Amino acid sequence: MSDALDQGLRACVKAAREDGQDVLAAEARRRAAAHGDLNAFIGLDTRTRARAAGAAPLSGVPFAQKDNFCTAGLRTTCASRMLGGFVPPYESAVGERLSAAGAVSIGKTNLDEFAMGSSNETSHYGPVRNPWDLTRVPGGSSGGSAAAVAAGIVPFATGSDTGGSVRQPAAFCGVTGLKPTYGRVSRWGLIAYASSLDCPGVLARSAEDCARVLGVIAGHDPRDATSAARPVEDYLAALDAPLAGLRIGVARPYFGAGVQAGVGAAVQAALAEYERLGARLVEIDLPHAHLAIPAYYVIAPAEASSNLARYDGVRFGHRCAHPRSLEDLYTRSRAEGFGAEVRRRILIGTFALSAGYYDAYYLSAQKARRLIASDFDAAFAQVDLIAGPTAPTTAFALGEKRADPLAMAAADVNTVAVNLAGLPALSIPAGLHAGLPVGLQLIAPAFAEARLLAAAHRFQQATDWHRRRPGDRP
Ligand code: GLN
Repeated sequence: MSDALDQGLRACVKAAREDGQDVLAAEARRRAAAHGDLNAFIGLDTRTRARAAGAAPLSGVPFAQKDNFCTAGLRTTCASRMLGGFVPPYESAVGERLSAAGAVSIGKTNLDEFAMGSSNETSHYGPVRNPWDLTRVPGGSSGGSAAAVAAGIVPFATGSDTGGSVRQPAAFCGVTGLKPTYGRVSRWGLIAYASSLDCPGVLARSAEDCARVLGVIAGHDPRDATSAARPVEDYLAALDAPLAGLRIGVARPYFGAGVQAGVGAAVQAALAEYERLGARLVEIDLPHAHLAIPAYYVIAPAEASSNLARYDGVRFGHRCAHPRSLEDLYTRSRAEGFGAEVRRRILIGTFALSAGYYDAYYLSAQKARRLIASDFDAAFAQVDLIAGPTAPTTAFALGEKRADPLAMAAADVNTVAVNLAGLPALSIPAGLHAGLPVGLQLIAPAFAEARLLAAAHRFQQATDWHRRRPGDRP
C-alpha cells in the first residue's frame, strides 16, 4: 500500500489503481509534514485537481515541483522575496503534462534563489538540509526536490538544470537525476534564469523512474521557441539495451585535483562494474574542460541580468513602500526583493555585457562555449557515453562554502560543460564515501536519452547503491 512510495513508480501506479488515487498523495503529504526539519518545501499544493483517467501512465502518483515551475493559482516564489506574492495565472508545460498523465502535485520544493547556487543556501526561505546528515547541504539548486525524493516523501520531483542543479543535488542526496537534451522538454512556465542553458529535469529513485517521467514530459511545445520537434522515443522499452560493446569514455579532466580521493575511488569502482557488465572503458581527454567554469560564470550571469530585468516593481515582483520617484521605485524594489547572490550575479552579468567589456568577457565566453561543444563532438566520435564523478566532493557542511563563491563554483566543475553544449546527462548513486552518497555522471550525445537511461538502468540492475536510504528515519 503506502510503502509503494518507497518502491518506485511501477509500484505506485499499481497501488493507486488498487487502493484509490488519493491514498499515495495523502501518505506523501503526511511524510512531507513529518520531515519538516528538512525544510524541503516552500508551499504545499492544496488545489483540487481534475481527475485523470485511471489508465493514465502516472495515475495517482504524488510528486513535488521545484518552486520555479509556475503553478496556476498556486504561489510560485523561486525562493525569492521578489516573487513572494506571485500567483501565476498559468501552469508550466511540465506541470500540465504531468497532471494530464495523472500525477498528483503535493507541493513546491525549496531551491536556491532563482536557481542560483550549488547548496540551496541562497533561498529566502532558509536552507534545505540533507536527509543523510542534517548538518550538510543537499546540493543545489534543486535541493528541496532531491531531499524530498531521498527522504522518501515523493517518488519523483521536478528540477531545473542550468549548470548542474538536477545532477549535483541528486549526487549529494543519493538519488537519480536526469538533465535531458536542451529542447527535449519545454521550458514554458519554468521561470527563466539563463535561457540558453535552462533545462527542466527529473529527480527519482532510479533510471527506470526517470525514463517513465521523461516519456511524459518530453515533446514538442510551440510555446517554447527552442523546443525540439523530433519525436519522443519509448524510453522504457529501450531500458534493456545490452551494455556489451558500449564504449564509455572516462574523461580525464573530471578526475582532477579537486576530486576527493573517496569520490574518485567510488567512481572508479562503478566504472569497473561497467566493465564487468560488458562495457569498454576508453580514456578520453576534453582539452577545453578547464574553460567550462569561467565561460559558464560569464554566460549564465549575463543571461540572468537580462532575464531578471523584468522584476522592476512595476511589471513584476515586489514593490517597495512609498517610492519617492520612479528611480527610487526601481532601485529600492530590486534591492529589497533580491538576495545577495542574485544581486551579485546581476552586477557581474551587466558588467560583462556592457559596452567596452562585451568582447573581452561575453564574446570570449561564447567562443569557449563553442570549443567545449566541439570537444564533446570529437569525443563522441570515439565513445558512446562519457563518465566521471558528478561532483568533486560529497555533500559539504552547511555554511562551509557560503562566503566563498569560487569554492562554491568548484562544486559545478563537472556539470556546467554539459549545459554549455546542450547535452543530456544524468547522475546515479555509485557508492558511499564516509557514509555520504557519491554520484556517477554519464553524458550522452544530443537526444540519446534512451542510451543514457539504459546504461544507468543496467548498472542499477546489477548494484544496489540507488536503494540505499539515509538512516532509518520515519
Ligand atoms: N550552481 C550553478 C549556478 O549557480 C548551477 C545552477 C543551476 O543549474 N540552476 O549557476
